[in-house]
Amino acid sequence: MDLKEKIRNIKDFPEKGVIFRDITTLIKDPDAFEYVTDALAKHVEKEDIDAIVVLDARGFLFGAPVAYLLKKRIVPVRKKGKLPAETYQVEYQLEYGTGQLEMHKDAIQKGMRVAVFDDLLATGGTAKAACELVELAGAQIVSLNFVIELTELGGREALSGYQVYSLVQY
Ligand code: 5GP
Repeated sequence: MDLKEKIRNIKDFPEKGVIFRDITTLIKDPDAFEYVTDALAKHVEKEDIDAIVVLDARGFLFGAPVAYLLKKRIVPVRKKGKLPAETYQVEYQLEYGTGQLEMHKDAIQKGMRVAVFDDLLATGGTAKAACELVELAGAQIVSLNFVIELTELGGREALSGYQVYSLVQY
């Protein structure tokens, strides 16, 4: 399936000069959503993972159905202030200033093997912060999985040392 046909390109969003890759047109097409879910599940099913970490918010859409298919635990990584119990916290670089991601301390146990899911890899800052959270819990990152990779933004290089997988590249 040509996923680029399913992903909508929005010029000048969220600011001038940026082309936003909009996955809402992909997920509203049940065949495309099934194709993407199956392809991601096929990639991680060989990896003998214990947990699927899903990144706030569009990562939830792709990681959760894979966790359901493979019958693995789902662990949400969320933006600051959203998780109610005790959390690990990591700061990361945003285009302007810094952000903070959190994960519940009891979500993952030491030694577990983890696959991370998000919709899109750009600079890699978000995924890197998620890796730090998983490692704070003493667990191991097995793979980082994305629907879309923006290759010119250097995310793969920023995440060197981790296995990075994406279904479609721009
Ligand atoms: P990074 O931290 O790799 O620079 O940025 C990736 C994060 O920003 C992801 O969580 C992703 O959801 C969001 N993001 C940045 N640009 C886009 C885009 O063009 N389309 C979508 N769907 N998400 C984006």
